[in-house]
Amino acid sequence: MGELLADHTTLRLGGPADQFLTHADPGTWFDLVRSVQGTRAPFVLGGGSNTLADDAAYPGAVIRMATCGIALRPLADASVEVVVQAGEPLAKVVEFAVAHGLSGIEYLGGIPGTAGAAPVQNTGAYGQQISDTLTRITAYDWDLLRLVELRSAECGFGYRTSTFKTRPGRWTILEIALRMTRSALAAPVIYPNLADALASPLGARPPLAEAAQTVLDDRRLRGLNIPDDGPDSRQVGSVFLNPTVTPAQATTIRSSGGPVQRGPDGSLRASAGWLLEQAGFCPGLRIDAGVYCSSGRTLTLAAREAATAASFTAALCTLADAVFATDGIRLRPEPIRPNAMATTSSRHLRAPECS
Ligand SMILES: Cc1cc2nc3c(=O)[nH]c(=O)nc-3n(C[C@H](O)[C@H](O)[C@H](O)COP(=O)(O)OP(=O)(O)OC[C@H]3O[C@@H](n4cnc5c(N)ncnc54)[C@H](O)[C@@H]3O)c2cc1C
Repeated sequence: MGELLADHTTLRLGGPADQFLTHADPGTWFDLVRSVQGTRAPFVLGGGSNTLADDAAYPGAVIRMATCGIALRPLADASVEVVVQAGEPLAKVVEFAVAHGLSGIEYLGGIPGTAGAAPVQNTGAYGQQISDTLTRITAYDWDLLRLVELRSAECGFGYRTSTFKTRPGRWTILEIALRMTRSALAAPVIYPNLADALASPLGARPPLAEAAQTVLDDRRLRGLNIPDDGPDSRQVGSVFLNPTVTPAQATTIRSSGGPVQRGPDGSLRASAGWLLEQAGFCPGLRIDAGVYCSSGRTLTLAAREAATAASFTAALCTLADAVFATDGIRLRPEPIRPNAMATTSSRHLRAPECS
């Protein structure tokens, strides 16, 4: 039997892969490409913290990115380019930046997963996202069968999305470059919860190390970390994106005391967690076989003993359907699922589908 994807995802779900390759040495990428079997582009796995792999065998190649390395390059304008290998944990890159007095990603500390996966969903937290500092990506293009360099403007970044998410399977990200500034101060605080935690007004620039530590403490308090063991130790964090709502829906939500935020693109976004609670869900509730809302957060689903990828997907549908029935708002799942039925790279991955 092939390597189990369950051994490489934080949900610990997923059947065996036909072929499982680990990419650990940047110098041997083309050897690895030559060894990929089958005709489809491989499924690329980082830390597996945003992946819901099917119970059935994955009929293709899976590449786990394990290359590590962070390099600094001073730029002419006194900023610094930080070049990171795809398999490096994002949390380590944040630690490195803060330790070197570099501002730009300090609010992304504690997010599980790899640097190479961060551009895929434009990973973000506390009002900061990887696209704020990302300047370029070196990737392997499975359509052109060669290395390409993509500038940030070519990556289609938006709220938890990018070209890598909307055209899945086409590129394997090998290296990312971030532009950061040397500063003892963090980026301006724009997220109200963080301002409260820092006891700092919105727009202020707190000391870099203090800001980074406050984020780590706040994540721990709010159940935004994966516990080492216990009932919530198998999870992918938030299971739904905060949905875009119409002005009329925003007014209704606000009049019931719910939060609505305006994004940088002007769109209004409601809180998926708040909508789930309005629909009757709460921390600790059983949703499907072995699938529960985590003990601390309704928006995080935990997989327990009896869980399967099928029951996890069914639980996502139960939650999304209930919110739709209550508020007429359609929630979109955040975790990505390797699509075993796909035959072309453009249909290689998809989010779990609900009715
Ligand atoms: C407790 C917890 C908290 C979380 N908090 C946050 C948060 O605050 N903000 C947030 O945005 N996310 C959060 N997440 C989700 C997740 O950690 C991020 O999406 C993270 O960037 C995923 O990284 P990964 O390496 O684990 O990706 P994986 O799950 O391995 O992969 C995710 C997707 O990226 C693709 N991919 C991975 N690596 C590459 C590569 N090198 N090239 C091309 N495609 C690639 C995969 O094919 C897949 O489609 C959280 C998850 C958990 C479990």
